Amino acid sequence: MARLDTKLDSQLDSLLDSLVKRKVTQWIRSDIRALSAYTVPDPGKLIKLDAMENPYTWPDELVTEWLEILKHIPVNRYPDPNANDLKAALRSNMNVPSNMDLMLGNGSDEIIQIILMAVSGTDRVVLSPQPSFVMYNLIATYAGLKYVGVPITNNFELDMDAMKQAVKQHRPAVIFFAYPNNPTGNFFKRQDILEILEISDGLVVIDEAYHAFANCSFLEDLNEYDNLLVMRTLSKMGLAGLRLGLLAGHKKWLSEFNKIRLPYNINALTQKSTEFALNHGAIFSEQTRNICNDRDQMFDKLNKIEGITAYPSSANFILFRTPKGQSNIVFETLKSKGILIKNLGSADKLLSDCLRVTIGTPEENKRFLGVLSGIIWTHTL
Ligand SMILES: *Cc1c(COP(=O)(O)O)cnc(C)c1O
Repeated sequence: MARLDTKLDSQLDSLLDSLVKRKVTQWIRSDIRALSAYTVPDPGKLIKLDAMENPYTWPDELVTEWLEILKHIPVNRYPDPNANDLKAALRSNMNVPSNMDLMLGNGSDEIIQIILMAVSGTDRVVLSPQPSFVMYNLIATYAGLKYVGVPITNNFELDMDAMKQAVKQHRPAVIFFAYPNNPTGNFFKRQDILEILEISDGLVVIDEAYHAFANCSFLEDLNEYDNLLVMRTLSKMGLAGLRLGLLAGHKKWLSEFNKIRLPYNINALTQKSTEFALNHGAIFSEQTRNICNDRDQMFDKLNKIEGITAYPSSANFILFRTPKGQSNIVFETLKSKGILIKNLGSADKLLSDCLRVTIGTPEENKRFLGVLSGIIWTHTL
């Protein structure tokens, strides 16, 4: 009897599978069905130099103080829907112009989603230079918008003729500039961005995800342009696990976006923990300074490895090129030796043979450089 049961169970399973499959085809948008999910590799025990995280945790006494605060958070209650205390702390910490509004997101990814949901419509276009942060393209697609990527030049600058032509042709509802750009690490010329701001009818979002390492900003320009928004995140500076992004801009824009934002998108633990972290900002500034110094050393050392070209970076990662056709073997060998970085070799024509490494602790960087020099030696010389 048991065997018959098993057989029946498996027939029922496959019947359910085919029924569900039919419904999925009927109801899920065809453009969504055609996508593959954005996957993040499981790092296991690998040294994680793939996602621009800050490698440092907090000193023990700070952790103790933090836990004391967490202890008193009433998790049975909804969080403050407007996160007012946290916003005040962010405003003063980041020098947001006092006449501008702030909106918070569950990471800046959620802010991109909110902006794009608000402008979504037939024939609406989202534009960004390419290669750049992949979420602009992905979220545009999820929100039912058309995405246009304008290739940057060989030296990673904006191709201004192509940009101006694309802006004229597509009249994008939103243009995203990652500043500095991910994955290339450089700033586009400020003057070029201002020129695009001038000729654009739609919104221009400056994504300052790497501001902690870069110190150049468009925040002060918010008062000069009616179509400018500035976005930041706390992820790269050391709070990736808490998920907090922010958008600064004119209240007439932000009050519209705020209607789409789900009421309790920033949870109570994130609100209190981020506020606590901002009150101990000196630790983060010190970590950030160390990461910048280590980045500059890593840049010099990478360029000393025969066959490797590293590109200057104003962020906490470095893009580098291997000898022709070697990026996959470099990536896989590093992985087999316990180090995970990002393989961009097939991401974009401009990035052939390119990999991106996040700056880790000095020990992690040393390990990475050691393994890398060994591989290059074995495979190309
Ligand atoms: C990492 C990154 C983000 C996403 O940040 P979250 O706040 O963690 O969602 C946004 N923009 C750029 C350019 C990034 O590199």
